[in-house]
Amino acid sequence: MRAITLENISKTYYDKSRQLTPVLAINNFDLHIAAGEAVVLLGPSGCGKTTLLRLIAGLEQPDSGRVLYNQTPLDAIPVGERGIGMVFQNYVLIPHWESRRTVGFFLRLRDREDEVPAHVETVAKITGVDIEKLMGRLPRHLSGGEKQRVSIARAFARDLELLLFDEPFANLDAKFRAQARVELKRLIQAFNVTLVYVTHDQVEAMSVADRIVIMKAGQIVQSGTYQALHDEPNSLFVAEFLGRPTINRFWGRVSQGCWDGSYMGRARLPCSHPEGSEVILGIRPMFVRLVAAGEGTPATVERSIPFYAEKYRLLEVWLRKRRWQIQVELADQHAPGDTIHCQLDWDKAQFFDAKTGARIA
Ligand code: ADP
Ligand code: MG
Repeated sequence: MRAITLENISKTYYDKSRQLTPVLAINNFDLHIAAGEAVVLLGPSGCGKTTLLRLIAGLEQPDSGRVLYNQTPLDAIPVGERGIGMVFQNYVLIPHWESRRTVGFFLRLRDREDEVPAHVETVAKITGVDIEKLMGRLPRHLSGGEKQRVSIARAFARDLELLLFDEPFANLDAKFRAQARVELKRLIQAFNVTLVYVTHDQVEAMSVADRIVIMKAGQIVQSGTYQALHDEPNSLFVAEFLGRPTINRFWGRVSQGCWDGSYMGRARLPCSHPEGSEVILGIRPMFVRLVAAGEGTPATVERSIPFYAEKYRLLEVWLRKRRWQIQVELADQHAPGDTIHCQLDWDKAQFFDAKTGARIA
């Protein structure tokens, strides 16, 4: 098992002609990943997730800072001894090699080809299919999902210390994805490997991760368990990124020590931010309740969307030209055009600075 330390890493991409503006993909990044930990990097497209994985793998050199495996700088470890299994989003398999050769490459180089079948069996367990039937085929005779399985098999068929997965299940059928995550989690525990896993799917993040690192523009915004990030986001960015249905936001201003959202039924909540400053109130749709007419704030139903698997219904409502969402029982009968009355569960409201997006305590 191996700990990974990223010390003050920065990475800029320049185009070869040096005519385009350079892209600062990773910006002063510090992260320690404990031996055996499963860390998920989660963030919007372009925030630097793939670049970070490539830096950890030694496929890219940082402009500054360093990567350590345990206490040793990555540069000092020969490539053949790094013990990395990688699955990348668009991993290119060698076109004229059939799968068996691809998967067995590492072990065959070391005269240990007899170990290959056991590794292949391991992967069959993760991906839930009979991978043996793919072993004789060339990449051009494999579907996207099959190529991905072969890549996963190759990642496991070696002396493994560290798994680096970049959206590994993106091309698997939905049916296998859920199963694949559970099996992967079980296997990394059994094999005692460290895992760095990239996804933009928060359900996947939740099921795989010991810890989630939320990234934005090459930096860490916040890291922690899914629950901690979901319940105590440090910013509007994290609050909106995590949790479905998405958190509602209401704009307001601080007046006389209270948040004053005039269109929210003149709600006044104590808020310690400077007088006159603009503050966003965030509240998750599950913390908005329907109440009897005359009790809460009236709003108009625009759409009613059932989520059968998740067992709730989402009402999209309009209130003074703003659209927001309420999570209600699946059996709820409200139709578009109906007037409903609702009340926010004020204890569950969170404040964010409207300019910086930072959470206000
Ligand atoms: P993610 O995986 O989170 O989508 P990437 O690490 O692929 O993000 O990219 C981070 C940023 O760096 C993006 O703005 C991307 O366009 C840029 N980038 C990535 N690879 C290169 C490259 N080889 N040359 C130039 N820019 C790149
Ligand atoms: Mg990527």
